[in-house]
Amino acid sequence: MNDDSTTTISEPVPRPVGSLGRRLVLATLGFCLLFTLATVGLRTWTAWQNNLAEMNAELALIDQVFRSTLSKAIWEMDSDSLHSQLDSVVQAAPIGRVELRIIRAGREPELVQRQRGEQPAEHRAPRLQHQLSYEPYAGASETVGELVLEGNEELLWERMLAEVYDIVITQVIQSLLLAGLIMWMFNRTVTLHVRRIARHLTRLTPDNLDRSLRLDRSPKRHDELSLLEGGVNSLQAKLSAYLERQHQDELALAAHRDRLAELVEERTAELRAANVQLEELSRSDPLTGLANRRQFDEIKEVEFRRALRQDQPLAVLMCDVDFFKRYNDHYGHAQGDQCLRMVADTLQSVFARAGEVVARLGGEEFVVLLPGVDAEAARRAAVRLQQRLAERELPHEASAVSPYVTFSIGLAVLDPDTMDQFDQLLHRADEALYRAKTHGRNCISA
Ligand code: GH3
Ligand code: MG
Ligand code: MG
Repeated sequence: MNDDSTTTISEPVPRPVGSLGRRLVLATLGFCLLFTLATVGLRTWTAWQNNLAEMNAELALIDQVFRSTLSKAIWEMDSDSLHSQLDSVVQAAPIGRVELRIIRAGREPELVQRQRGEQPAEHRAPRLQHQLSYEPYAGASETVGELVLEGNEELLWERMLAEVYDIVITQVIQSLLLAGLIMWMFNRTVTLHVRRIARHLTRLTPDNLDRSLRLDRSPKRHDELSLLEGGVNSLQAKLSAYLERQHQDELALAAHRDRLAELVEERTAELRAANVQLEELSRSDPLTGLANRRQFDEIKEVEFRRALRQDQPLAVLMCDVDFFKRYNDHYGHAQGDQCLRMVADTLQSVFARAGEVVARLGGEEFVVLLPGVDAEAARRAAVRLQQRLAERELPHEASAVSPYVTFSIGLAVLDPDTMDQFDQLLHRADEALYRAKTHGRNCISA
């Protein structure tokens, strides 16, 4: 029955469905039974009263018919006529028993009676008692006897039973018809539609909420069922709108999430680039772009260990600009910076081969690390540096040794027998530089 439904909510095991109509019918039948009992009782009582009255009337009629002839027969002492009349009376259907008391002057009253079959001891049929009088001539009426007519008990009950039977049958049929009609009406107007609503609700899924409920009846009707129909449809519409909104929200959320992921990606890339830049900056001198002391400290140890390991020469040049304080004082600090940049540029142009490292240690002091270069080659390189600087002819009017900017250079090479720390080599170069300064500057000392 629910094959086409794709609801995600687990459906409860269906229980056998009772019928509202059947309950209504049982209630109606119960009520009709009580109603039937009451009606049957009332109608039976009325029928009883009617039957008594009818039998009474019949007895009165018989009494009227036979009264005068019986009185005459008694007066004339016509015994045959008397007995034949009494036989006739008892033959009449409504008569159960007839009793005649004959009164004669100076004699005991004589009792004559006729009876139909066996009459019950308890008598419920009507009983009529009447004095019989005879008028032999006008104005001389005399009582001759007393006539008692008793109704036919059997006939009375027969009539009653027939009537009660009719009453019960008609009442039962009436009740059954009423109950059937109510059930049929209720089934047509309520149960069918309630079942349809239940089926509709069972088949409802989030995907078919737009399929509205239509009851198979006139749309003009406005009752509880149309209220229910409207309520279900309005609920579906609200639910559908809510789900649509939720769907839109989910889409928007997904879009935001994607955008957020993109932004995070972008920011991460930017951050990575900034980190690389920062790393670069932290390892280079901002003024000249050469390696700074930090980077130099990292490299020097590596080169020092490699030279020792591979038994290779390693040379260091300590270069210091001569009279730079004076330069600053003479040309100004900004020009001093410019001069330092040009000096750095010169250093880089001379030592551009792979493995050669130029770093600014601070102020106007530079260091050159030459792996695989012995003392002789280092000296030639230092001379080349001085020549290149001289060629640039950077004016230095405050210098006492040259009209141009000059370098004093201290040179030292690795001695594996006495050195096990790079700083020992650096210290040697520093000492050589000091000697170069004391020997007049603009020269190379080893
Ligand atoms: P010497 O020949 O003995 O080396 O004398 P000098 O004047 O070069 O040496 P000193 O150590 O007395 O002076 C170095 C000067 O370098 C002092 C300082 O003002 C200058 N200086 C240091 N760093 C910078 C810098 O980054 N820019 C500029 N313009 N000047 C600097
Ligand atoms: Mg100096
Ligand atoms: Mg100097």
